[in-house]
Amino acid sequence: DFRHVFTPGRIGTLDLPHRIVMGAMHLGTETGDVDDLVAFYRERVEGGAGLIVTGGAAVDPFGAGGPGYAVLTRDADRRRLATLAQHIRRAGGLLALQLFHAGRYALLGEQMQPVAPSPVFSRFAGREPRAMTADDIEATLDHFVAAAEFAANAGFAAVEVMASEGYLINEFLAPATNLRDDDWGGDPERRRRFGVEVARRIRAALGPDFPLIVRISGADLVEGGTPAEDVDAFAAALVEVGVDALNVGIGWHESPVPTVQTVVPHGVWLPIARRIKAVASGRPVIAGNRVNRLDQAEACLARGDTDFVSMARPFLADPGLIAKHRAGRAVNVCIACNQACIDRSLVDEHVSCLVNPRAGWERRYPTVARDTGRGPVVVVGGGRGRVVVVGGGPAGLQAAIRLAEHGVDVELFEAAPELGGQFRLARNVPGKADYGRTIDYCAARLAELGVAVHLNSRIAPGDVAGFGDTDAIVIATGVHPRPLQIPGATLPFVLDYSAAFDAANLGRRVVIVGGGGIAVDAAHFAAAAGDASATDRFCAAYGLGPILGSPPTPEPSDISHDDIPREVTIVHRSRRLGARLGRSSRWVVLGELRHAGVQILHGAQYERIDSSGLHIVDENGHRRELPADTVVVAVGQEPNNDLVPAAAAAGLHYEVIGGARDVDGLDAVRAFAEGLAAADRL
Ligand code: SF4
Repeated sequence: DFRHVFTPGRIGTLDLPHRIVMGAMHLGTETGDVDDLVAFYRERVEGGAGLIVTGGAAVDPFGAGGPGYAVLTRDADRRRLATLAQHIRRAGGLLALQLFHAGRYALLGEQMQPVAPSPVFSRFAGREPRAMTADDIEATLDHFVAAAEFAANAGFAAVEVMASEGYLINEFLAPATNLRDDDWGGDPERRRRFGVEVARRIRAALGPDFPLIVRISGADLVEGGTPAEDVDAFAAALVEVGVDALNVGIGWHESPVPTVQTVVPHGVWLPIARRIKAVASGRPVIAGNRVNRLDQAEACLARGDTDFVSMARPFLADPGLIAKHRAGRAVNVCIACNQACIDRSLVDEHVSCLVNPRAGWERRYPTVARDTGRGPVVVVGGGRGRVVVVGGGPAGLQAAIRLAEHGVDVELFEAAPELGGQFRLARNVPGKADYGRTIDYCAARLAELGVAVHLNSRIAPGDVAGFGDTDAIVIATGVHPRPLQIPGATLPFVLDYSAAFDAANLGRRVVIVGGGGIAVDAAHFAAAAGDASATDRFCAAYGLGPILGSPPTPEPSDISHDDIPREVTIVHRSRRLGARLGRSSRWVVLGELRHAGVQILHGAQYERIDSSGLHIVDENGHRRELPADTVVVAVGQEPNNDLVPAAAAAGLHYEVIGGARDVDGLDAVRAFAEGLAAADRL
């Protein structure tokens, strides 16, 4: 029942079909071929999105978040955005242009020094900005107004002013970054004056009817950030100058508190939106941050936490999020991995999505949406051929889905009793239960497309010749854990990571050998214990009580783990644990391990295992014994590729994808993407 989600709403003069707003995302294609941008947004419009906020467009060159940002003082960027606005309007979409100034977070290259209220070094940009003069401030205000006028004339449905996440307007508000003592700083009223002036002047320029949203920072989560009472006063002042809605963001790039990663409980930030709603004088409040499913949005709206829910990454994971829910169909869920979106966006790379590798590549992998009466079903082409896919992990699942969308007759064989391959293991890690939903979605999509799935069906090399009547075989047989080559590695209490995630009892002392992402996940999994809800644990770990004011609705524990407090040690050879984890997630998961008391030993050499545990030489050259009830081995992977010679010998047309092709640099992003690409090559 999505009654509240599907209740129409209104922002200013804008009538909206439902209560979900697609939040702004920098895509990395903003300065490229406009047809790519059009295809991306049009697919979301066709999938039922209501109001869509674009990625930030810098109001002037100093405001650019990076070289790939559109800059609204450049003719070429204005032309591109005007074309986008026209196309989306014609497609029936409602596109709000986000007006952006990165301030001290601008990544401008050596030639230009970022500008900010005060010269406060930014760890994120790695530079100290120049303090804006009074003339700079006036010029920047003019640029915001000119940008808003451009948006209105170009056919955008609304504008959203970016005043959160530690960007320029937020920097004026926060005592930590505004050290001025002039008209634009010195006390809360003068610190908020810049943001209020932006809104007041835009409203004056555009008249009373053009929808104006401001994205404010509900909590900066940095030392010296904007106090809650100043945030509330800013919100009230914005309402007073005619802002139509307040979109509540959380946290800065420099925050030591994670806000959108897997460990962040769903809906944890909503109490802040509730507080702002109380001062918004009835103007709609939009909020999200870690609301990634429509059932969570429904609960949030039903409780009255917010008037609209902002969802951004979920529209990467599934452009049909809204239409599919309306039709009661399976929906692909954002798993908050950040691997193909935020981590790329932070370095201005082309954004996509781990669970939906078509995101951002809609023109390379086109679809035809056919309305079957149950909402648009994405189908690519007419029926042709028969293909066997061996392996039901990410690569095989994606290949099978895409082939079936092409109309190919697909049969999928999976050796295990369930689909998912290695990806399935992650669902037992705290915060990663949604990984299981990815597999559920793929299974539902395969069923929708009529793919024959055979579980418990290992294909041996000798079976391959029997596929002679197929047009092609996709070998997506994945990997197996690399064994540890030291004495004692075959003792019964030594488990490979795959067995460890399924083990009923790991005992009290667990030693994890290896330093990659899987070893980190295994440590997180082993260290999870106790019966506190994920929400309580998270709030306690980051001291959020005073920040949130009222407690968030607790999220029930999303994993089944036992109650045994464990001593967990992770021991690895290199100096950098989880070196390949993404920029936005690595510091968070390592912090979680610290909070959970996991001991981390770097630079070790593994010597042997015996009944008392693992023996190592530590980074100082000392021999040590690490007592263990269980030793978990996560020292890498080897490809399962024994079908390849058989397929070649049988003269079959075949594709090898994912871990079966190459384990170097393997992750789920690559596996899903290779499945998609292989299907289109066949
Ligand atoms: Fe969500 Fe990960 Fe996709 Fe980003 S890459 S949208 S976090 S599933």
